[in-house]
Formats: sequence, C-alpha cells, structure tokens
Amino acid sequence: MSKLLPTSTAGSLPKPAWLAEPETLWSPWKLQDDTLAEGKKDALLLSLQEQQLAGIDIVSDGEQTRQHFVTTFIEHLDGVDFEKRETVRIRDRYDASVPSVVGAVARRKPVFVEEARFLRQQTRQPIKWALPGPMTMIDTLYDNHYKSREKLAWEFAKILNQEARELEAAGVDIIQFDEPAFNVFFDEVNDWGVATLERAIEGLECETAVHICYGYGIKANTDWKKTLGAEWRQNEEALPKLQKSSIDIISLECQNSRVPMDLIELVRGKKVMVGAIDVASNTIETPEEVAGTLRKALQFVDADKLYPCTNCGMAPLSRQVARGKLRALSAGAEIVRRELLA
Ligand code: ZN
Repeated sequence: MSKLLPTSTAGSLPKPAWLAEPETLWSPWKLQDDTLAEGKKDALLLSLQEQQLAGIDIVSDGEQTRQHFVTTFIEHLDGVDFEKRETVRIRDRYDASVPSVVGAVARRKPVFVEEARFLRQQTRQPIKWALPGPMTMIDTLYDNHYKSREKLAWEFAKILNQEARELEAAGVDIIQFDEPAFNVFFDEVNDWGVATLERAIEGLECETAVHICYGYGIKANTDWKKTLGAEWRQNEEALPKLQKSSIDIISLECQNSRVPMDLIELVRGKKVMVGAIDVASNTIETPEEVAGTLRKALQFVDADKLYPCTNCGMAPLSRQVARGKLRALSAGAEIVRRELLA
C-alpha cells in the first residue's frame, strides 16, 4: 500500500434485513436456493459500496455470503457431519452446539474462491479476505475422529493453504486468518498454533495477516472480558512467536480494550492492524477518539506499518451503527494522516 494509514475492517459487516435476521450471530437465511445465491451476491455489492462510501481503503466482502466466520468454511469440507452435533465449550468460555468430525477432513472443492473472484471484478482497491485459523477451527468442532487437537489443526492448515493459494490466484491482496483462540490457549499457541498458521500460508506471495481478538460484542465475550482484570496481557504469549513468523500483518483489538498498547512493541517490524473501533458498543466513536488511539499506537509501530482497523467483525451491529463506525474510522485516520504529512 502506498497510501499512509490504509483503513480496513476486521471482516464481517451487518447483512441486509432481507437476507438474514439483523443483529444476530448464526442468523438463518431468509432466502432459498437460487434466490439465496443471488441475494448473497447483491449483499456483497452493497457491503462493498458501504465501505467505499465510507472511504475504506482495503475492502472485503463483508462476509455477506457466510452465516458464521468459522462454521461456513467447515460446512464445505468432507469429514464433518453437521447433523451429528455435540455441545462443547468453545474458547474455554461458552457452550455451543457444534458439528462433529467423523472422518478424514478434506476440501473437495473451493469454498470462497468464486466470491473472491466476483469481488475482484468489482473494484481495483486492494482486497482482504478472511479465513478461520486452524486453532479456531478445531475449537469450534467436536472431534470424534483424530482425537487430537494438534493433528486436526495440521489437517486444517493443509486445507486452508489450498484455499488460500486459490484466493491469491483470484486476485486477493491480503489473506487474513482469524485466530481468537490465540488469546485463550497459550501453551498450544506455542507448541503448534503458530506453526500450523505458517503451514496455512506456505508458498503464498500475497500478504498475510492474523487477526487476534477478544471476539464479537456478544454477552459471553463481554462477560469474559470482565474477568480478565485491569490489563489484558494475553497477546504477550503469542506476539513474540508471531514476530519471528513469516506472517506479514498482526491485527489487534485496541479501542476500549484493556490490551496495553505497548504490547505492540513485541511485533516490531511487522505491520499492525490497529483496532480503533469498538465493535461491542453501539456508541459511534468520534474521529478524534479514533485519532487518539492511532496516535498512541504510533509510539510502538512505525507509521508506514500502521493499518487502522476495527477491533473485530461488525456482523452483530445494526447497519446504521456500522456505517457510522466505518466513517469514523476513515475520518480519524485522515486526521492522523494529515498530522504525519504536515
Ligand atoms: Zn475478531
């Protein structure tokens, strides 16, 4: 990116009310069959336009074609039975009914490649595409086949790499892996979490990112955050390892979070997507608040490596709030951009 402080979102944006129930996670589709396929594409176009009107520099599909950032990817794989559901504790935090791994996992055909190609046709702006990370995938499943979190993570890393290579060929500029699980399972992050992520990006020439967050603004997450104390130092465990990895960009939650800003120092040399928009609140940040967060981050990341972003996805917010937040992000970045260029 030649533009200073290029803005982007962590991933998901709200869906139109004619496509899915608003402000709900895992919201059921309101359309069916061919109408659903067409509706998803229309929503993707709307979402792109919202980002463009707000002045977002690196655009995405707003995850309009996915019901959920993890399960939709898994639905397309062999070896996972969605009828055979088990209740498991995910992110060590809340119980969810999840599908079961019943045999060897495999990707029989591309999952998002057609959508990525469609998005590529609509814009010349850089495109970022989000995929779930291996550790977050295994943490959103019941494994009745491999009986080993690590083994299953390596299998998913291989599958993600196949998908990522095809997304790159479709013209995606940045491939992002969402790893909220990195904030929870520190020993596994060290033992094999970062290693499986490296396997997922093997051979890619486009830029790669890892998004480590404290999750959507849903109650289970906000309750959990209350237990984490005055300072959230969870990232401290994973960041040094990521600094040494070949991942290009680290995406962190910084707005209204208790993640100490100086933790960014641990990935010095990497690009950092600094979350300057709180997705767990309906209050729209002022541009000056966004600018304040970015200025603080600039103490620990060089200006040419700072990418203003949202803390996490905005799928559970209303469209109006999300729109306001996108505009605030752009306006806040512009304030700091001018200061840097003055
Ligand atoms: Zn997130």
